[in-house]
Amino acid sequence: MAIPVYTIVCTFKKLIARGVYELRFSRPAGFTFKPGQFVLFDVPLVNGPHPPAPFPTGRGGDLFQTRALSIASTPEESDLLFVVKLLPGGRLSRWIEEVLKEGSKVSLKGPFGNFVLTPSPPDPLSQGERGSGLFFIATGAGIAPFRPMVLQALTLHQSLRSGAGQAPGPSPVATGEGGRRIDILFGVRSEEDLFWKDWLEDISRDHPNVFHHIALSQPSPSWTGHRGRVQAVAPQIVGSDFTQKTLYVCGNPDMTTDVKRLALGEWGMEKKDVHVEGYI
Ligand SMILES: Cc1cc2nc3c(=O)[nH]c(=O)nc-3n(C[C@H](O)[C@H](O)[C@H](O)COP(=O)(O)OP(=O)(O)OC[C@H]3O[C@@H](n4cnc5c(N)ncnc54)[C@H](O)[C@@H]3O)c2cc1C
Repeated sequence: MAIPVYTIVCTFKKLIARGVYELRFSRPAGFTFKPGQFVLFDVPLVNGPHPPAPFPTGRGGDLFQTRALSIASTPEESDLLFVVKLLPGGRLSRWIEEVLKEGSKVSLKGPFGNFVLTPSPPDPLSQGERGSGLFFIATGAGIAPFRPMVLQALTLHQSLRSGAGQAPGPSPVATGEGGRRIDILFGVRSEEDLFWKDWLEDISRDHPNVFHHIALSQPSPSWTGHRGRVQAVAPQIVGSDFTQKTLYVCGNPDMTTDVKRLALGEWGMEKKDVHVEGYI
């Protein structure tokens, strides 16, 4: 089946931490996706010709290349939200920093990916065993797909409790009262690299089963939260028994590879409970 191509308009661009942009785009009619999925942007050369999107088919040479970005909005929201961590000299990174503006037209295709919640019946979000729950580990922009996934988990739980069936309700915000424990471990280098702290604090405050943990690998002396890499901080949060957790890991590939190795080895988890998206 042909993957649909869409033209979207940038409606918001803001630097939210060191080298991190939050971007919003109009959501095209008919575009649907599952929380956790990504799209492929057509990225033109910064110094090359810029025909208006949609770009011509049969594009040759190096004029356009695709780059993957995880969707950070929920399927119910009207905008498409993305978070991009710039890599110095990178093609997507230069394009976002130097070319993309509010009002720019962009071409993308998708959605793609199997990095989605994997609930199993009858009510995966309220098993209630001690220690059971969803554990999300992200570094940098890897937090992006967890926003819709966490909101979906809360909404799914809400609708299952109210007998509304499997489909998440229209609102991305549910009460989350009771339900399976959700831990979000977010690692960045230092305070300057941190973003979405308010969102993490809000969602933890509003939902008694949601807990967030921020880990800085190179914090300032005044930092009072977790210190070190997420690999080392995860056992401080979970304890010694990871076997009741379903783990989702997203971020740079060195981290995701290492966490997967730990999860399947030292932490004793089963392969079916470990889901990984590496930002290669
Ligand atoms: C499924 C998926 C989802 C993703 N989602 C996100 C997301 O939500 N947010 C996000 O920020 N990223 C995401 N990524 C990563 C993203 O797609 C890009 O790979 C990343 O942003 C870097 O792209 P770039 O074009 O800026 O850098 P690239 O052009 O790919 O270059 C990467 C680095 O290599 C260097 N480099 C390039 N060419 C050379 C060369 N010839 N010699 C030496 N060095 C070179 C560049 O300077 C740069 O530092 C995702 C990746 C995947 C696979």
